[in-house]
Amino acid sequence: MLLPVGDEREPVKRTATTILAILIVAAMAPASADIVADVVSLVPHGSHSYAETMAALQEMHLTERVTCVSLGTSHEGRTIAMARVCDPAADPRALKKVLIIARQHGNEPSGTEAMMALLRHLSTTDGARETALLRRVALLVIPMANPDGADHGRRRNARNVDLNRDWAAISQPETRAIESAFVDWRPDVVMDLHELPASSSRSSYQENFVETVGTAATLPASLCAATGRVSAQLSVWMGRYDIPLNVYYDTPGDDLRLCHRHFGLYHQVPTYLFESKTGRGRSLRARAAYHVLGALVVANQLAYHDGPAPVTMQYATSTRPETSAATDPGVAPTRVSLDEPVHMGPDDKGIPRTLLRAEVSGSDEFSYATMELNGVVVALTNQAPYEYAVDTSRCTPGTQQVAVRCYDSSGRCLAGDTRSFILQPTDAVMGE
Ligand SMILES: [Zn+2]
Repeated sequence: MLLPVGDEREPVKRTATTILAILIVAAMAPASADIVADVVSLVPHGSHSYAETMAALQEMHLTERVTCVSLGTSHEGRTIAMARVCDPAADPRALKKVLIIARQHGNEPSGTEAMMALLRHLSTTDGARETALLRRVALLVIPMANPDGADHGRRRNARNVDLNRDWAAISQPETRAIESAFVDWRPDVVMDLHELPASSSRSSYQENFVETVGTAATLPASLCAATGRVSAQLSVWMGRYDIPLNVYYDTPGDDLRLCHRHFGLYHQVPTYLFESKTGRGRSLRARAAYHVLGALVVANQLAYHDGPAPVTMQYATSTRPETSAATDPGVAPTRVSLDEPVHMGPDDKGIPRTLLRAEVSGSDEFSYATMELNGVVVALTNQAPYEYAVDTSRCTPGTQQVAVRCYDSSGRCLAGDTRSFILQPTDAVMGE
């Protein structure tokens, strides 16, 4: 056995409803009733060491679907490993590729454990959906990008460098190894997996979030379309598992020292930063579930969004009632209204913020809401509170147009509201 599997299934989410229900059903039902539950059941209750992770990779290397390679070594000589999982019979030229980077910060274990569980599941399963996926997509997984930090239980590498602030310089053996892998393999999509502190005064750090490339005239339209489409699907699927998610968007001019901006804005490959919120009630398994589901959605989108085949992910239980406001007169329509924007002043980074907040009510069809500022989508969110704190130092003082729109899971707009507010020059200035 490569990874220990607990006898007891602990609650994997804060409100302990949907995923717990799925886990219980999965325990009684044949395997592959729900891929996420199957994978999450392989996540340990406590994280593995570097040596245990390497040993598990070596065992998986013996399976047909998995090939493990060394990308290089860390300052202290530990291996920076990458595992590729795909159908060995697939034409390598036809395979699309997702590069998944986990654990740049050594004290954030959920990305490592999520990806090790996903690799282990995909290396052995005969599930129809997984088999079909692996004929189209190869996952290139770096489960422990900062093995020195992981072994020492600290954020930075052995030279005390924060690897996720090194992507403009690429000065460290770890970032150089990953950049070389990117150049060699030319992935179609990149994911970077992290964890958020339990408490933070930053409004964007209050819940799980994804950050990716947003709409900008200077970026390829295909890139903006891809990240927008995947963001919506991430929001829908996270909502189905009752996992709260906010999506934020980067644009040209943002700091390229961060990995997801380096690959997203510099290399212009769709890249997703996944931040899993830590804290009370958010076990390793719950945090890993967020990364597992995220990887499955991204891979499925890459595999199927262009072709004739439908997206084949499905979830087994706890589906919301299928209702339609259009056909069922008893269902209340979705309603949304924007509150008066509130100028909050500078946050803990000195960035002046104005809070946009919407109230949403109505039908079960509602899936997610977008926030727009001056015609550009700036955030997407799937659970209350529906809010976004605008960085007003990036706005030109004067009238700002704000819109909120609500969508169902197929992307149909259900309702919207607009407002404008005046930004005074003093509201837009960076704090001291
Ligand atoms: Zn991190």
